[in-house]
Amino acid sequence: MASHPVIDALQAAHAALDSITLQDSDGRMVGWSSMEGMSGDELQQAVSLQAQLEGRVSGLRLHAVAAADAGGAAADAAATDTQSWAAQAGRNRSRSWGGVWLAKLLEEKYPHTRAALASGRISEEHASVIVRAAEKAPVGVTPEQLADCEERLVHKAIRMAPSNLRRAARRLLEPLSKELADAHEDDLLREQERKAEFWTDLVLGDNGDGTWTGKFVIPELHAQLLKTALERLSSPRRYTRGKGGDVVEDPTVSNRPNGLSYTEAMGAAFLELLEHLPQTGHARSALTLVVHVEEEKLRAEVGAATLETGARISNDEVRRLLCEAGVMPMVMSGRSLPLDLGMASRLFTKAQAIALSARHDTCAAVGCDRPFAWTELHHRRPWSEGGPTDLDNAVPLCGHHHRRVHDTSYDHQWLADGSVRFRHRWRSRWRDGADPWAGQDDIDARVAPRASTTHAA
Ligand SMILES: [Zn+2]
Ligand SMILES: [Zn+2]
Repeated sequence: MASHPVIDALQAAHAALDSITLQDSDGRMVGWSSMEGMSGDELQQAVSLQAQLEGRVSGLRLHAVAAADAGGAAADAAATDTQSWAAQAGRNRSRSWGGVWLAKLLEEKYPHTRAALASGRISEEHASVIVRAAEKAPVGVTPEQLADCEERLVHKAIRMAPSNLRRAARRLLEPLSKELADAHEDDLLREQERKAEFWTDLVLGDNGDGTWTGKFVIPELHAQLLKTALERLSSPRRYTRGKGGDVVEDPTVSNRPNGLSYTEAMGAAFLELLEHLPQTGHARSALTLVVHVEEEKLRAEVGAATLETGARISNDEVRRLLCEAGVMPMVMSGRSLPLDLGMASRLFTKAQAIALSARHDTCAAVGCDRPFAWTELHHRRPWSEGGPTDLDNAVPLCGHHHRRVHDTSYDHQWLADGSVRFRHRWRSRWRDGADPWAGQDDIDARVAPRASTTHAA
């Protein structure tokens, strides 16, 4: 008995692919035959033909699913519905962008999309985008008008990635009128936003090694907000030139030729964002974490502290956080009595910050370009050591340099012009073994250097 032409064609396709597989001595397929010797053009052609084939094959699958649905194949096979029938029949392997819904609509309503998919000019994902957009067309649009718009969109889709096509599809009705296209776009965006809200979630996992890994799904608007904020926080390049235009090497930055990569810079910016969540507004206290630390430890710069959530952080970190809002210190005296030193006297006021901006345009670290507005105000003499919260003791530092100034692996030195420079405590970390501080003596004599274990050169 002759088999159906569809089966014959698919088997012929398999036979054609068999001819380019690699087989072992028992005739078992172990992979594909070598592509060695193919030119760049040929490889490109190969990938393009594969993409075309994939489109055609998924079009054929949808066609089969539509036929199965119309013929009641699911009921015959005792499957609950055509969707699960198709999953079973396809051995759960094929990814579908629209399933039975798309299969039926392609057959019944969208000839241009169907034709483009059958010829492999678009992918199944493209087809799904077009059909979804067309299905949301307002009731006033006639089938002829819709078919015309569909044809134009299919034409565009051939050269577009699905993500761009989604944008173009929202203006599907543009050929009819701007008003219709606007109304249609509004509907589609509203639906997309509703879905985005539904899918929004965030997972945080403790890696147990001092890092956490997070993953989230957020709506477009919020992603744009986050991206803009992070790019702003990471944008002006730092570590470039000194005030005299000379190239400045910043020993606190990695040796990599271009400093941080984009993703590393975004990561650092994210930390800054988290430490500067708004403290004002109705729920002022909600964003404050209390940290418990013993007074002696704080003054001695050793010994960990405990966040109210139970997490432990280093002394360096506590001392840095004390310069800024966001963390409320609960300093325990020797007898373990909580001694709330309060926030009012600890934090610099807005007026002080404005006055300080007259003295500094940027972060005070030598060579750092971060604008003043993005800096944190550090107490030159630590507040925990009785350093006053007044103008002469305030110095603007960007997030990175503020971390370094409290990082006991670095020494820092205040210069007469109000800037600060850094040096790693280990001589072995000095570039070419040379002391970065050698030959400069414009040190601010008013600020005593921090006790250091470095053997000065
Ligand atoms: Zn500080
Ligand atoms: Zn800086």
